[in-house]
Amino acid sequence: MIPHSRPTLGAQDQAALAAVMASGQVAQGPRVREFEEAVARAIGEAGGVAVHSGTAAVELALLAMGVGSGDEVILPSYLCSGPWLAVLRVGAQPTVVDIDPATYALDPSAVAKAITPRTRAILVPHLFGLPADLGALEALGLPLIEDCAQTLGATESGRRVGTVGVVAVCSFYATKLLCTGEGGMVVSGDWTVLETARRLREYDGDPVLRPKAFNRKMTDLQAALGLSQLAQLPAFLDRRAAIASLYATLLTHPGLERPATPPGRSHIYYRYVVRVRRPRPSLDDLLARLERRGVQCRRPVFLPLHRYLGLAGYPFSEEAHETALSLPIYPSLTDDEAASAARALCEELG
Ligand SMILES: *Cc1c(COP(=O)(O)O)cnc(C)c1O
Repeated sequence: MIPHSRPTLGAQDQAALAAVMASGQVAQGPRVREFEEAVARAIGEAGGVAVHSGTAAVELALLAMGVGSGDEVILPSYLCSGPWLAVLRVGAQPTVVDIDPATYALDPSAVAKAITPRTRAILVPHLFGLPADLGALEALGLPLIEDCAQTLGATESGRRVGTVGVVAVCSFYATKLLCTGEGGMVVSGDWTVLETARRLREYDGDPVLRPKAFNRKMTDLQAALGLSQLAQLPAFLDRRAAIASLYATLLTHPGLERPATPPGRSHIYYRYVVRVRRPRPSLDDLLARLERRGVQCRRPVFLPLHRYLGLAGYPFSEEAHETALSLPIYPSLTDDEAASAARALCEELG
């Protein structure tokens, strides 16, 4: 079986974990600080606050920006439910809008129509490794929260993702670009945002009782793994680019559309997502047939938000749900495995 996702873990990651075990300092400590500084530096921002998940990072970013009850936050329908839940949890109202069908990213004109006097922020996911249309979103004049859970190191108009918004959030879940098992980070150039997020990350050591404070800390075990993974990021991205170019040469079936990279943007291929023009009889059936052949492909988003919420009027998010297929792509995938996956997909399309 060729799995859809797989963390890339090697001897150097094991050694990093063993060193923390041997030190006896396993909870949040110096490795977490070091990881925060290293991730912030890699993104090109002043600082970071490490937490136990990407969803917790979204929640702390919103709280640190002062977003709460009576506020609205715009986000796309074609997204996992984590950020939507984070908006609700801080007491704000999520406003769900449709996507640009060519890139799966937020459609700036749909965002413009959804803005009200209560809109406090736009949550901008850079999905699958491709930056969203940051220039057009920035022009709307509202604070941007960049969701970099799937994209690190990609650029839009020469600017690196994570450096354009007020704040950026990362996820280090097992199968993301960098793996700490579970983990996340708030990254920003705004020291007030960072300090507020830091104070809300833990309930202890603060002279005032903060009702929103909790325990969302990352451990030194996770941070040591994260540092080891971050050192491998350039090699990971090179391998992803090589697999993507292999797929581009093999996936020439007329029933498929390969991922597009608009001018001025770069793609780091966290996911390799193709459009199946007319999945017969359905995408579910195609996914099941591929799985029977030993190739795990997946919908890149499990269920879009408008589906969860029973909302009509999201034609492009709906179309993506019915036609977008994500192939296996990760640094440990071999060329032979990628070729088998591409062959299986083309053969199943007939
Ligand atoms: C994974 C992911 C998240 C949530 O991160 P967790 O660490 O799983 O909580 C948020 N946004 C996007 C785009 C993601 O891919």
